[in-house]
Amino acid sequence: MTLLPADTRPLMVCAEDRYQPDPAGPAATAAEAVVDRFWRHQIGVPGNMRNVPKGPWPTGTHLEMTAAAYVNHGRWMVDCPHGCGSAQYASHADRRMFCVECSSGGTGLWITVSWPSPADVAAIEAALSCRLVPNRNWRPGETVEQLHAQNAFNGAA
Ligand SMILES: [Zn+2]
Repeated sequence: MTLLPADTRPLMVCAEDRYQPDPAGPAATAAEAVVDRFWRHQIGVPGNMRNVPKGPWPTGTHLEMTAAAYVNHGRWMVDCPHGCGSAQYASHADRRMFCVECSSGGTGLWITVSWPSPADVAAIEAALSCRLVPNRNWRPGETVEQLHAQNAFNGAA
């Protein structure tokens, strides 16, 4: 593991860094901007259907299913819990996701995204910040102490 000089270390990237709501659209948050931007017909449809939303704006929230935010290559991400294989940047501010690939399992519902506590987010990001971006990884259940131990083992403490 190689260390980066402190002033060149990028911050962890999340949905707010990648998905900006269009002021003219229905999205107010980064999680909603994903739906507004990517849940549209693009290929395999007649020209007049391109860019048309694939369904009504999701309004409800799945009551029994959640998804967990995790860090992958310095990015806060969340996987579709319906198993379609899709992932998107996780939003710090709007802790929901709607899978634009499978329409949240065809339910049309938002899925609540679980995050570590704010103190744990800060501790996880601090522990990962000395690593090169590809090595900035964390999964739910992995402790901050484990991250520090990995840093020490790899000479990045
Ligand atoms: Zn999906």
